[in-house]
Amino acid sequence: MIKKIKLITRDSFNQLILPVYNPAFFIPVKGKGSRIWDQKGKEYIDFSGGIAVTSLGHCHPVLNKVLNQQSKKLWHISNVFTNEPALRLADKLISSSFASRVFFANSGAEANEAAFKLARYYSSKIYNSKKNKIISFYNSFHGRTFFTVSVGGQSKYSDFFGPKPPAIMHAKFNKIDTVKDMIDENTSAVVMELIQGEGGIIPADVSFVKEVRDLCCKYNALLIFDEIQTGIGRTGKLYSYEYYEVQPDILTIAKSLGGGFPISAMLTTNQIASVMKPGIHGTTYGGNPLACSVAESVIDIVNTKKILSGVEKKSEKIISELHFINKRFELFTEIRGKGLLIGIVLRPEFSEKIYDILNSLFLEGVIVLTAGKNVIRLAPSLIISKRDIVEGMKRFYRALEKCL
Ligand SMILES: *Cc1c(COP(=O)(O)O)cnc(C)c1O
Repeated sequence: MIKKIKLITRDSFNQLILPVYNPAFFIPVKGKGSRIWDQKGKEYIDFSGGIAVTSLGHCHPVLNKVLNQQSKKLWHISNVFTNEPALRLADKLISSSFASRVFFANSGAEANEAAFKLARYYSSKIYNSKKNKIISFYNSFHGRTFFTVSVGGQSKYSDFFGPKPPAIMHAKFNKIDTVKDMIDENTSAVVMELIQGEGGIIPADVSFVKEVRDLCCKYNALLIFDEIQTGIGRTGKLYSYEYYEVQPDILTIAKSLGGGFPISAMLTTNQIASVMKPGIHGTTYGGNPLACSVAESVIDIVNTKKILSGVEKKSEKIISELHFINKRFELFTEIRGKGLLIGIVLRPEFSEKIYDILNSLFLEGVIVLTAGKNVIRLAPSLIISKRDIVEGMKRFYRALEKCL
């Protein structure tokens, strides 16, 4: 028998949903730009951007229009056919990056899953079946499928799920010697985030990334950049690897790409792609016309000088407001990250209070995220207005006044 619940409340979550999350005490029902409203009509300023996803804010009119138009034409057609939005989007991703081939999927984890499979497949076809080692980094995050949590550098996400896939090793981020110690002719790929996102907004050093690239070239290992969180304008360039002047062999993107519609992509070169044949890998929904038409518009809007240079200006404004707040409260020791992926590192005495601080911010009408143990993370819309920044930071200040 199905029990009907009459009133949808936060408590319904505890009765109905697998308890893998502990969501905020309120339920958002509407969003517009960088503002959100809950069931009671209370308004919030959103510095979380749906965890770096709603890159153009909530319900952007152009995305809305494109989604509506495409929904009247064709929603789903399967990979038995190709479709126009997928081909147009692929063309835009290729012409704006190092890559010449695209694979579409629906989530970050699936894009990484495809990347890791491609790397091992390529190494075993071109070299030999022993060349299957994957090197990743402690504290990294690459998604929640079993392969991707095993590659990810936080064992709490992969322990107790049975035997893990073998030949995965973890080096220390920004410590090149630990990579040198591990890498050899049996290494298939090295995978890294350019800014460790979930791990606490920790940027990779330029020299480190360059040296990893050199080591990969020396041992014929593929370099995979997971730009699922840092890609598509988040840091003020379309792809963060542009800052490093280092190109990967495989790149994964998701989050900001769909502006809130689920889509991800794995990009690679012709040479690497050439080992793949029909049937070797696949997905039911990947590359569906609804997702691709929305993502195409996201790229059109974000990949402009105006939006990308705006990211840096908005970032500067937020950081200067944060420094002002810090003068009064001495809350944090460091601000790190790039563009609109900002990590506020709390002073040790505040790190235990991080969830009290978050709740207090919610009560005051401002939404932020955490990352790692002691970092408040901001990943707002790339087009958040100055007015919303200023108002949000006022609320931030008031919330701290009440809770510290
Ligand atoms: C979010 C994220 C993922 C996982 O994406 P999902 O869509 O949740 O599967 C993978 N890598 C990085 C760097 C991420 O930030």
